[in-house]
Amino acid sequence: MKLVTTKLAIVVSAITLSCSVSIAQAQSPKYVFFFLGDGMSASQVQAAEAYLTTKNGGKATEAADLMKPENRLNMSKMPVMGMQTTYDAHALMTDSASSATAFACGIKTLSGVIGMNDTKTISYKSIAQLAKEKGKKVGVVSSVSLDHATPAAYYASVASRSDMNGIATQMANSGYDFFGGGGLVKPTSPTNIWDLLATNGYQVKNTKADILALKSHPRDKVVAINPMLQDSQAMPYAIDLDQPGYENNLSLAEMTDVAVKVLSGNGGLHKGFFLMVEGGKIDWGCHANDAMATIGDTIDFDNSVKVALDFAKRHPHETLIVVTGDHETGGMTIGHATTGYTAYYDRLLGQQNSFQHFGMTHWPAHKANWAAATCPNWSNPDNLANNSDMLNLLSSEFGLTYSDLNAYQKEKLEDAYDKSLCGSNGNGTDENKLLYGGYEPIIVTITHILNERASIGWTSYSHTGVPVPVFAQGREARAFSGFYDNTDIAKKLADVMDIHKKLPVVK
Ligand SMILES: [Zn+2]
Repeated sequence: MKLVTTKLAIVVSAITLSCSVSIAQAQSPKYVFFFLGDGMSASQVQAAEAYLTTKNGGKATEAADLMKPENRLNMSKMPVMGMQTTYDAHALMTDSASSATAFACGIKTLSGVIGMNDTKTISYKSIAQLAKEKGKKVGVVSSVSLDHATPAAYYASVASRSDMNGIATQMANSGYDFFGGGGLVKPTSPTNIWDLLATNGYQVKNTKADILALKSHPRDKVVAINPMLQDSQAMPYAIDLDQPGYENNLSLAEMTDVAVKVLSGNGGLHKGFFLMVEGGKIDWGCHANDAMATIGDTIDFDNSVKVALDFAKRHPHETLIVVTGDHETGGMTIGHATTGYTAYYDRLLGQQNSFQHFGMTHWPAHKANWAAATCPNWSNPDNLANNSDMLNLLSSEFGLTYSDLNAYQKEKLEDAYDKSLCGSNGNGTDENKLLYGGYEPIIVTITHILNERASIGWTSYSHTGVPVPVFAQGREARAFSGFYDNTDIAKKLADVMDIHKKLPVVK
């Protein structure tokens, strides 16, 4: 009798165990999207929504207009919201390497370090690697180069983010199914990454037709590099896509769509997948204090979130989507000392290109034409005021009418113009550093003035330490509500995906 009771107890506990396992498995999202807006915090999101409101014919000062669904980003309409701290092991202001390590591996580290601890002695597995080991398909998409800090943290462990050839070597050895976005910064030395990719069975696609063909003919192990690379092997700013020569570009949303089709194909819907998508140039636009470059890329990033939402409509009970940023960049604020409680986002509508595009095209052409004639008299206080060619560029490329500016704004533009055109403006070194932060003086001053006239302020050319919102939707999204640390993102993802009990996991 006693024996029977024991056997019964074992059977009952086995049934209980198998039930709890199957419930846990049933609750795990099969398809997980992690969207990372580099440099994106609440200001970048609100600025993008105020811009959309204005572009769509409403007013950025009217709540009824701001709250219309068409003027809202997809991410801010998600049902679950949390907030995360962004500091790293030894800095209140993190960099993208240490923050990505927090998201990917669940550990605090030092700025510049990827997938390792702060003494650079231990390497850790990322949630992407853990997902791959569990049999899921894995994709990594970024609008900047694929060996850049954020994508790198999902497949590489290196002591320095600048070891981009070492990072790319680990990418080629990762076994992941899809990489897409920008190119590689150091592809040939010492290791030839293209050869290594081929040896490891990867195909590299770098025409628009070949990349889009993957949607109807998905294959595993593919690296899709955008045909149009603008700066540092990155995809162009979204605001520049109407410029001549940019026709063969893919948007981040198109690249994300290709990634989803590749990860869904060849058994992917059965296996499940993890896809990380980075909007990397939100950050670059903020470093340069160019609100419209930032807003354009925030909207492009949000359009890629829409691709995941469309996928989730077809797989509503099996999909988890998480959207966040790694830190704020630029100290962007909604409001400025010169505009107080009002806002003029209509003043942004005339900007035709990013600081980057202007700096690669219009500015060098202007400088070549005018420097020799102007610079012998650079201390003349009216070099800019009397140059109709430059005043026309301010108007045509940025929508900035010189006669609308106040005396102080005109003075700042004049100083910056002299510094950029002639190399000198009479300002002290400290003043130049504060005003231009290493960027082309005339261009950063144009965007400063344009942005402040719209009511957007900047306090830094670097990252700042404010917490960052997290938006989530779908299976187990509720795990992302509350206020927590950035390392908790990796831990929560590993937990809800049921890929590992406790992070970090040593390689
Ligand atoms: Zn940055």
